[in-house]
Amino acid sequence: MKTIDKDFLFEANLKKALENDEFRLHYQPKVNLVTGRIWAVEALIRWEHPKKGIIPPLEFIPFAEESGWIVPIGDWVLRTACQQLKDWLNEGFHPMVMAVNLSASQFYQPDFVKTVQSVIEETGIPPEYIEFEITESIMLNSESVLPVIRDLKQIGVRIGLDDFGTGFCSLYYLKEFPIDFIKIDQSFVQNCTTDSKDETIVKAIIAMSHQLKLEVIAEGIETKEQLIFLQQHLCNTGQGYFFSKPIPSQEFVQQFNEIERIVFQNGIPQEFNRQKWLEEELELSRQNLKDTIRKQQGMIFKFVKQNGKFIHTLCDGELLYQAGGTPEHVVGKELHDFLPEKDANNKLHYYERAWEVEENVIYEGKLGDIWYLASLRPIRRGGQVVEVIGSCVDITQRKVLEESLKLSEYKYRLIAENMQDLIGVLDTNGIIQYASPSHKTVLGFSPYVYEGNSAFEQVHPEDIAYIKKQYENMIKTKTSCYVEFRYRHDNGDWVDLEALGTPVLDKQGEVEHIVLVARDISKRKKAEELLLRSEKRSVLGRLAKGVAHEIRNPLTSIKGFVQLLQEEEIHTFYTDIIMAEIHRLEEIVEDFLFLAKTEDNQRKDVDSKNLLDEVVQLYKLKAILKNIEIVQEPVLDSPLINCDVNQMKHVFMNILQNSVEAMPEGGIITIKMFWKDSNHITFRFIDRGNGITEDRMKHIAEPFYSNKEKGTGLGLTICQKIIHEHGGTMVIKSKVNQGTIVDINLPTKQLYLIENN
Ligand code: C2E
Ligand code: CA
Ligand code: CA
Repeated sequence: MKTIDKDFLFEANLKKALENDEFRLHYQPKVNLVTGRIWAVEALIRWEHPKKGIIPPLEFIPFAEESGWIVPIGDWVLRTACQQLKDWLNEGFHPMVMAVNLSASQFYQPDFVKTVQSVIEETGIPPEYIEFEITESIMLNSESVLPVIRDLKQIGVRIGLDDFGTGFCSLYYLKEFPIDFIKIDQSFVQNCTTDSKDETIVKAIIAMSHQLKLEVIAEGIETKEQLIFLQQHLCNTGQGYFFSKPIPSQEFVQQFNEIERIVFQNGIPQEFNRQKWLEEELELSRQNLKDTIRKQQGMIFKFVKQNGKFIHTLCDGELLYQAGGTPEHVVGKELHDFLPEKDANNKLHYYERAWEVEENVIYEGKLGDIWYLASLRPIRRGGQVVEVIGSCVDITQRKVLEESLKLSEYKYRLIAENMQDLIGVLDTNGIIQYASPSHKTVLGFSPYVYEGNSAFEQVHPEDIAYIKKQYENMIKTKTSCYVEFRYRHDNGDWVDLEALGTPVLDKQGEVEHIVLVARDISKRKKAEELLLRSEKRSVLGRLAKGVAHEIRNPLTSIKGFVQLLQEEEIHTFYTDIIMAEIHRLEEIVEDFLFLAKTEDNQRKDVDSKNLLDEVVQLYKLKAILKNIEIVQEPVLDSPLINCDVNQMKHVFMNILQNSVEAMPEGGIITIKMFWKDSNHITFRFIDRGNGITEDRMKHIAEPFYSNKEKGTGLGLTICQKIIHEHGGTMVIKSKVNQGTIVDINLPTKQLYLIENN
């Protein structure tokens, strides 16, 4: 093919050719195969060498591409072609599109898009009158090419694929790239009337272009047969020697009218041609409509009434497929053919209404897992309903939301209606901001009665001062607080409540409001009382037995000694024992009396530490004798407690006594005193004695249950009673051979203050 010597093709020559203006453009028309009109021209380059004459592009373009000279040459082509178009327009030609071929290296120039833009600006040609022909090889590097193509489309120029069918021919480009036309390569066109394979290929390319809504052009048309073939198969545009070879501008202008007559003179009759095109368009738009109905997110169906039955004539759309159906399931069938009996009957009712000319029948339905909303509309012709159109939209998401809302509402109601605990939110002044629905069930008043009012209003008058004080303290200390009090019931009764208040702090760390969780403990209180009473009875029973036993023993010895006294001379040793035993009897009787006694109101406010100290001082001496040291941990705070001093001392003594007796070998007893919570103080006694077994632990506070050989065993029972009467608790924890911890928790008069923290 290389008829030109290599030397000649050196860069210098291309450069010189550019400088000496040796390049020419020839123009080949693109003809509309329906109208016969020239609607575009393709610019094709030639080299007019002073010595060698006209050199065709295939002989120097590959070299220009290799050497990079294609960039300035291509630039020249683009400018010259656009200038030419502008000149023609100025001469009064009807607007035409100028087609320019692009080679890959031009396309990859970083400023290519800019160049195009500047040419457009310089010449003032509307961008839609410029089209670029690129080959599939350019598309190979699709990642870098796609942005350029997008930018060009952004400018507004047209882009087409040249030589279609010869290259890589990936359908992917056609789908992904925003191109305007494809050009069937001349190699197929040339044999399309003689070779059945090429015929098939050409037909297929045309049909495919129509489907993809791309224009299709055939190049290399050389015969009338080819023209007719292409017309019959509805190719949009044609190009080839049959119309015109690429010719210089001057010639093109002269032959323009001649060329435009060719289709009219040689092609199929225009009427026939138009008819074909209309059919094609109809078919295409029918397909398009079908496609649209198929692809729409919802579902469209139609039905008619035939012999009293509603028969579906159409059904399609994404929703149908999502629900697992196909048009075949529905079309030609009535509701009962594809729906369960109940469903079908239900829908029939709506169908009937629409058919009876109700304008907008709306209902909800379910297909598989999908909820839809359907709307029916009767279509009338000549006053008669001829069919009904139904359109459905997917409302599954909304439904799911509604369902979950319903469920959570139900759950909430379940909780609210069945909850026995009272929940309240109060502001720092005790004004109720929220009261849970359970107020109604527990206190008889609807929660709205409380909201906006002071929480203290309904508190029992005797409890109000205490409660207010606790409330203030809770806010001051920002710690939670446990209280028991009586609250008014709608029926006039008082309900015993226990409540835990918890301060909620704002961002600044200040108390914003208080959350109160309260519970009706009236029943529990009554039960406790009952229990207490029955316990007392059984305690008394056991007590009587114990007392009888305990008294009988000393009496036996008294009796014996008295008998001896009767026989022998007076002996101080016996009388001493008698005295001691009598003393014990007295003690027992005293304890016994105490147990039977109800509340004794000899209470006063005392300093908690002083009280403890007094007992410890008293006891220290006794302890030292038994080789026991009592260690008191320093305390920070010594709140006042309201108590019967003697009783409380009795308790402390008793516990210390137990501890001492538990450590026959001696050791250390530790005493601590600390805040249990904001309004309780704990006295803790720790010994490392022999401890108490689990079994005994169960009965520890029962009268006469003592491992002490000597003691009466009444001790802990009485301690328990005293502490309870003071509103406190006693907790004993013990491990055999490790020791015992006794906690006495008592309510304080003063409250734990945050400054102590
Ligand atoms: P192409 O773009 O496919 O151009 C069509 C070629 O087929 C042209 O050859 C044209 O003269 C020829 N042709 C048109 N109708 C017929 C026909 O009915 N029968 C036959 N046998 N041939 C026909 P040309 O002008 O020699 O161009 C050859 C190739 O050179 C072009 O192929 C194009 O790829 C390239 N070329 C031409 N001008 C330029 C240009 O300005 N820039 C670039 N990058 N390449 C160009
Ligand atoms: Ca071309
Ligand atoms: Ca071509």
